Amino acid sequence: MSIVENTVNSSPAIVPPARDPRQASWQDSVKDAVRDPVELCRLLSLPNSLALAAARVAGNFPLFAPREYIARMRPGDVGDPLLRQVLPLEDEQADVPGFASDPVGDGAATRTAGLLHKYHSRALMVTTGACAVHCRYCFRRHFPYAAGPKSPAQWAEALKEISADGTLSEIILSGGDPLMLVDAHLQELARRLAAIPHVRRLRIHTRLPLMIPSRVDDALIAWLRGTRLTPVVVIHANHARELEGPAVDALARLADAGVPLLNQSVLLRGVNDDLDTLAELCERLVDLRVIPYYLHQLDRVTGAAHFEVDEKRGHELVERLRSRLPGYAVPRYVRETAGAASKTLLA
Ligand SMILES: *Cc1c(COP(=O)(O)O)cnc(C)c1O
Ligand code: SF4
Repeated sequence: MSIVENTVNSSPAIVPPARDPRQASWQDSVKDAVRDPVELCRLLSLPNSLALAAARVAGNFPLFAPREYIARMRPGDVGDPLLRQVLPLEDEQADVPGFASDPVGDGAATRTAGLLHKYHSRALMVTTGACAVHCRYCFRRHFPYAAGPKSPAQWAEALKEISADGTLSEIILSGGDPLMLVDAHLQELARRLAAIPHVRRLRIHTRLPLMIPSRVDDALIAWLRGTRLTPVVVIHANHARELEGPAVDALARLADAGVPLLNQSVLLRGVNDDLDTLAELCERLVDLRVIPYYLHQLDRVTGAAHFEVDEKRGHELVERLRSRLPGYAVPRYVRETAGAASKTLLA
């Protein structure tokens, strides 16, 4: 089973009754996201042949892109770096040795359903399989989300594990994208985690502030500020153009609320594998009060080989970034190695 079976369309757990109009609006954006490659190509004035290929190769990880994100793509440009992240290409069907369905050892790190524990002091909860966008290079594109918890009640086992392990001071909400869950659900999870005395921080890994910026609404800010846990939000931007328009306001709301903001990017061929693009991304992040945290070497997941950048080239790019930007604006270039005690530093 793949990520798609859990998208907002098919999972009743994340389509609650609308409460306030603002919250309805981000959920409307999810419902209104583009799933049909023909429509995507029409919106961007691209040849229909691309759409036909996309439909043919997408398989069980279909196109999924919100209109707020598509609005930042350049019409008529097949090589647009934002488009490349979402458009299924025939390249995905290449069977490349070394690429696998679980490249980072998530299976072996699963402690109980939905709880991954790889590193000392922090564990990661796979809260949902739903995302606001389907990134073609996603390392969890083949993750068995269906086996994981779906509702707050089903978290009991994971919470018991966390309670029993006094070394865990930080819990990471991941997915999928945890901000695809409604605030009531997230707040309940945060409340239960806050009741565990040794848990001190709550980290959220999300693309929502960039993909559907209206997700950063008053209710989200309120529960983030209201929890005893120190919140940390890690966004995922790969290109400076993702940090435009309403995304700027969403990040400002989080920063104004005092939430530390970090960014992780993936080094992607044809998206951000050149010095000017990376430098602009990092500077733009810092201008928006987001610290560039990680630049990931691509995880070698089946279907993503065409995004891979040679490690030597990555190393060179990061060294050159270092001679251009303030030290804090240069991300750590890392690779995830199954079984290692941390991400592996490459530069
Ligand atoms: C990447 C990852 C983390 C976070 O690692 P940091 O270096 O703290 O950012 C934690 N748990 C799992 C399972 C991960 O894959
Ligand atoms: S990279 Fe993140 S947002 Fe993109 S599909 Fe994967 S889990 Fe979802």
